[in-house]
Amino acid sequence: MATPYRPADALRSPRYAGVRTFARLPLVPEPELGVDAVVLGAPFDTATSFRPGARFGPEAVRSASALLRPWHPTLAVDVFGSSSTADGGDLGVVPGNAEATAARLAEDLGGWLDAGATPVVVGGDHSILLGELRAHAARHGPLALLLLDAHADVWEDHCGERLFGGTVIRRAVEEELIDPQRSLLAGVRGPLYAEADLEAARELGFELITGDELRALGPGEYSQRVLTRTAGAHCFLSFDIDVIDPAFAPGTGTPEVAGLLPHEALPLLRSLAGTSFVGFDLVEVAPPYDGPGQTTAMLAANIVWEMLALRLVSAA
Ligand code: MN
Ligand code: MN
Repeated sequence: MATPYRPADALRSPRYAGVRTFARLPLVPEPELGVDAVVLGAPFDTATSFRPGARFGPEAVRSASALLRPWHPTLAVDVFGSSSTADGGDLGVVPGNAEATAARLAEDLGGWLDAGATPVVVGGDHSILLGELRAHAARHGPLALLLLDAHADVWEDHCGERLFGGTVIRRAVEEELIDPQRSLLAGVRGPLYAEADLEAARELGFELITGDELRALGPGEYSQRVLTRTAGAHCFLSFDIDVIDPAFAPGTGTPEVAGLLPHEALPLLRSLAGTSFVGFDLVEVAPPYDGPGQTTAMLAANIVWEMLALRLVSAA
């Protein structure tokens, strides 16, 4: 199959040249047939509970992605060679209004889904997930959600607001966009408000794996749990960068100490080869708190690339 959209040739123009799109892919600003996979930004961060800045996440991840190469040695796939991939620019957002943003995101993302593209969305704070799930669920019905996050994001409200980064999973359950019985939340750690906090996710029907448990399980057992839990359902993978230890990913809104190391997280992702993914996102990269060398953005760019590779070995 032809691949009309693929990265610029690094042997003809150096990686640091040109306008920064994700992995130097062509910019295709409107949904278009012939795009198999599309990377999209969602620069919205006014539904964060602590440090703002994730509105600049897409820009930083694009900038850090210039060095990505096509061949994935572990999954043995040519990430850009067998699939037409574009940077679709940024989805519409409404600053200061998470609900209006969710509606815009669902509409804009729906256009890409109808054009047949598998999207990977770069946030933005985690509230953007609601609009994404609305677009996917409108086409597939309730999804199996795989969440990697230091937080379960199932609070009832925040200062009276019902949609923000920390409530988005509960809202998705209420709207029946995801099926908790087929979903798995993993990586939760850090101080909580009360002992009952972890139970809140389980009471909604989710399987919940804490960060310590996830590290003890390892990729083999984690992927088995995912396989059993999702059982062929349409899956959506949401990766909150704060699941990573803040020593490696300090540029995020709600950091928690003692998270996954990058060399633990990447094998966990790769263990999901064969899962039936219909969409992905990578959220909560807040560049103002990133360190020298932009370690957070660099890791995030690589995780987006892992998602593009997972799509190629997906059962969907
Ligand atoms: Mn989150
Ligand atoms: Mn989080």
